[in-house]
Amino acid sequence: MKESILCLLQDSVKKYPDKIAFADQSRQITYREFWTEARKAGTFLAETHAKGLRNRPIAVIIDRNIDTLIAFFGIVFSGNFYASISMDLPEDRRNTIFKELDPLCIIDARNKGKVLEGTISLKGIISTAHIDDSLLDFIQSNSIDTDPLYTLFTSGSTGTPKGVLISHRSVLDLTDAFQDAFNFDSKCIFGNQAPFDFDVSVKDIYNSIYAGGTMHILPKKFFVMPKLLIEYLSLNKINTLIWAVSAVRILADIKAFNDSEYDIPLRYLMFSGEVMPVHVFNYWFENFPDAKFVNLYGPTEITCNCTYYTAARKFSDEEIIPIGKAFKNTRVFLLNDDNEIITKPNVSGELCVEGTGLALGYWNMPEKTASSFPQNPFLTEFGNRIYKTGDLAYFNDSMELCYSSRKDFQIKHFGHRIELQEIERTANTSPEINISCCVYDKENEHIILCFQGTADKKGILKHLSTRLPKYMLPHEFVYISHMPLTPHGKIDRKKLLNIALGKEKLNESDKTNIPDGLFRSSISMCVTASENLSRP
Ligand code: AMP
Repeated sequence: MKESILCLLQDSVKKYPDKIAFADQSRQITYREFWTEARKAGTFLAETHAKGLRNRPIAVIIDRNIDTLIAFFGIVFSGNFYASISMDLPEDRRNTIFKELDPLCIIDARNKGKVLEGTISLKGIISTAHIDDSLLDFIQSNSIDTDPLYTLFTSGSTGTPKGVLISHRSVLDLTDAFQDAFNFDSKCIFGNQAPFDFDVSVKDIYNSIYAGGTMHILPKKFFVMPKLLIEYLSLNKINTLIWAVSAVRILADIKAFNDSEYDIPLRYLMFSGEVMPVHVFNYWFENFPDAKFVNLYGPTEITCNCTYYTAARKFSDEEIIPIGKAFKNTRVFLLNDDNEIITKPNVSGELCVEGTGLALGYWNMPEKTASSFPQNPFLTEFGNRIYKTGDLAYFNDSMELCYSSRKDFQIKHFGHRIELQEIERTANTSPEINISCCVYDKENEHIILCFQGTADKKGILKHLSTRLPKYMLPHEFVYISHMPLTPHGKIDRKKLLNIALGKEKLNESDKTNIPDGLFRSSISMCVTASENLSRP
């Protein structure tokens, strides 16, 4: 029985002690060495900061390196849970998080530069610490799987970031579910793209350890130099990619595999976070006919993903790639506005999730936790929580789940209910559009389509008007050289609206402010060629 994710690590240390567990740009580390270094960090934390305390937060200033992972596991060995904090966050936001979190201490795991004031250097810990096996074994023997493992901070509508708290049990369940669905094995070599404060990376870390695989932490710079990235993937025989859609998209946008002299032995490409444009998927599918492609769906609050769809064919422009069905040991259902379960195809409702993957809640926010994880409306006789995702979905004719949009991207426009994401998805089927995003100017009641690609307004309008009702046709079209992205690599819709309205511009800092693990196909200045179009 596994009561902690340390059991996964212990199993792989026993089976593959001398195998490379992790690699970054400055070193690689075997399972045995990783175990030793993490236990040093664990002993240090247990003796100096935790001192018998359990289930308290310890923050880590993260980097794209092995030391960050040693810090995570050291914290777990000490009987506590980790909170990943990126220096890319504005200082104010970082300080708000520290205040909310009130951590036992803060570890700085960065490779270079001065250690942040008030923090402890991971390197310093490892160079001096000893291991107290009996202390660590005692802590582990008192662990239970409902103990928290990590918290990830996501934006909160009140302006205060929310720390989503995830238990060991949820991550153990996630790795079992992935194993059941995809059969990862010790030959899997993962190429980690997602930053460690983004839950996509959780899948890399724990699936790799579970399978006894190797995980390469891909440096940020590779994602502005795709040739280097492809060369690295090829030379290191990286065969398993669990990436954000934006990273997958950008390689397709620049047709990175055309005439490439490098061979990537791809076995798995899994993507999540946003809708995958069909032309992007088809490009990868054509280039890697032997690989398994999986659309993964889910919010951080249910531990990464609750549904999956294995895409084993090319899709036509008019189709969308389903999000499929629930993982084992997870239940998903659609609720209509009257809280009734939808069972028929092609009826849209809010996607709700029930199961072990549900977060323990938001750190120190009992009211927010209660409202976001309400009682299951169909089982009121005992405590049974669900998570309402805020996403709209429907079953297609084959009863596969398909994602429609966020509930909050729904607008009422002259009496019509419109999903902005339906407009952009339709625009994305044009071969002349790389990616598009729709925003709504409430004041002028204008739908604005921002797009990247070679299309012109007449062409887009022609494309859309044969596919959408008149009331859904955008009023304005804004060409943009690259989409502004949030730190997690999703399109920054707020900023995009401001750009479309001329209130903000992509500036020099945007050019270099590339989110961890992502690169942009074009880093030229944005050209906003906004043009009002009269309705056809
Ligand atoms: P996050 O909590 O940052 O991972 O964001 C979760 C949200 O991203 C979900 O609620 C969806 O709105 C969106 N999302 C995640 N995966 C997918 C997917 N495969 N297709 C479409 N949207 C997705």
